[in-house]
Amino acid sequence: MKGQTMVQLGQDIGSLLDRLGVERALWCDGSMPSVTPLTGEQLAMVRVVDAAAIDETLGQASAAFRAWRNVPAPRRGELVRLWGEELRAAKDDLARLVTIEAGKIPSEGAGEVQEMIDICDFAVGLSRQLYGLTIATERPGHRMMEVWHPLGVVGVISAFNFPVAVWAWNAALALVCGNSVVWKPSEKTPLTALATQAIFERAVARFGDAPEGLAQLLIGGREAGEALVDDKRVALVSATGSTRMGRAVAPRLAQRFARAILELGGNNGVIVAPSADLDLALRGVAFGAMGTAGQRCTTTRRLFLHDSIYDGFVAKLKAAYASVGVGNPLEGEVLVGPLIDRAAYEMMQDALAAAKAVGGVVHGGERVGEGESFYVKPALVEMPGQVGPVLEETFAPILYVMRYDDLDAVIALHNDVAAGLSSAIFTTDMREAERFLVASDCGIANVNLGTSGAEIGGAFGGEKETGGGRESGSDSWKAYMRRATNTVNYSDTLPLAQGVSFEI
Ligand code: NAD
Repeated sequence: MKGQTMVQLGQDIGSLLDRLGVERALWCDGSMPSVTPLTGEQLAMVRVVDAAAIDETLGQASAAFRAWRNVPAPRRGELVRLWGEELRAAKDDLARLVTIEAGKIPSEGAGEVQEMIDICDFAVGLSRQLYGLTIATERPGHRMMEVWHPLGVVGVISAFNFPVAVWAWNAALALVCGNSVVWKPSEKTPLTALATQAIFERAVARFGDAPEGLAQLLIGGREAGEALVDDKRVALVSATGSTRMGRAVAPRLAQRFARAILELGGNNGVIVAPSADLDLALRGVAFGAMGTAGQRCTTTRRLFLHDSIYDGFVAKLKAAYASVGVGNPLEGEVLVGPLIDRAAYEMMQDALAAAKAVGGVVHGGERVGEGESFYVKPALVEMPGQVGPVLEETFAPILYVMRYDDLDAVIALHNDVAAGLSSAIFTTDMREAERFLVASDCGIANVNLGTSGAEIGGAFGGEKETGGGRESGSDSWKAYMRRATNTVNYSDTLPLAQGVSFEI
């Protein structure tokens, strides 16, 4: 069975990439392997950029910006509209490639591409809504207003677990705002990046007069990301990945006063209160904790159960964990696909050992199958308290379960970790819900739904060691522009603000 899949994948990938419009030369004879976590099979050898190519790319991106910023924003929106059309046409193929290269189950692969389409739609509307304010001035015969201008070259660094959507969140907004974009995708998912770029190029061809090099791709490792971070031609770097990466990137950007959007790790908690609809809570926790094999930044990693419902809820959760299908999503109906690689598996096992060492009782977590693909049963760990590995993000399906009896105390505990991305409470008591929403220190706080599965309409991002950035909906577009305050004097006098007098 597994052998068959490997053969199929090997054949599949060529025709899939051909259909997606990726040139063979880009993935046939390069030096960076693309490996599918489904089987561990090497799919391609992708060409990587060197320092000279990065320099040329950034030079082109700077020139493209100078032309693109003068194109009216609604016309810029037209390019993004065409891009959305191309994505709709390529949705099934790109989704399949996401499944093959990142290991997502098909509905999540398709959901990721849908998210790209959604942000394109959002950005098209936005291209006619890049509003500034008109502000009351204290000086007679004056008008004060703020105007938003494009920033320059926007660098995007992305993680393996959302190999295509994160780029789209950034690029769709950056482009309608008048910027050019240079993308450094994860070295674990170069094929999805090449395919995404090819789809974008088709929109550019239909658009007709976009400047050359408006959105470009840098395939490479960390050094390529560092080059983006250090190059003064890049005005903003939007970096998605681990907090470790953010800790390296943030000071370098600050050093040259560049803008940063940091979307880093999460350690997301859910509280289930005594009044909760427990069936709803069960589904919300199960998807949040096991979905994407625990490899979402918003994955539920900590669960706080009220004493009064603890035993019954844990029993139901254990049954849900036991029933969930783990395996290759191309071989059958499963809900949990593979971990990305061996290192992820080893980190998971280390975290489980550390949890046991501090009194945790581990259910699940064992490896399923063997060889160079890494499938695991999701782990449920009953913890005596919020200690040891519970305090950190382990990028794998581990859910730490703890008891509580007082809401204020559990909210304090919930907030007492370094990350601050997503959070949720299940309750039907509106006072509890409101108290939680006020007190949660995360960028995302939900009631009666889990921590995962954000829509593009809201601003996405988190606080503390999650980095503080916001992407996607609401007014996140402002991060991709600079604001100028303009005051115009249409009188024939020169009154000074604050009543200052300076007669000459
Ligand atoms: P990672 O940090 O290993 O890599 C992310 C990207 O950063 C890659 O493209 C990598 O090449 C690049 N990179 C690494 N070090 C760099 C450096 N010093 N300078 C410049 N670039 C560098 O992360 P990963 O394993 O691919 O992804 C998983 C992590 O990403 C998790 O921690 C997850 O929570 C986080 N994540 C966060 C969000 C969010 O929106 N907050 C979304 C997705 C993933």
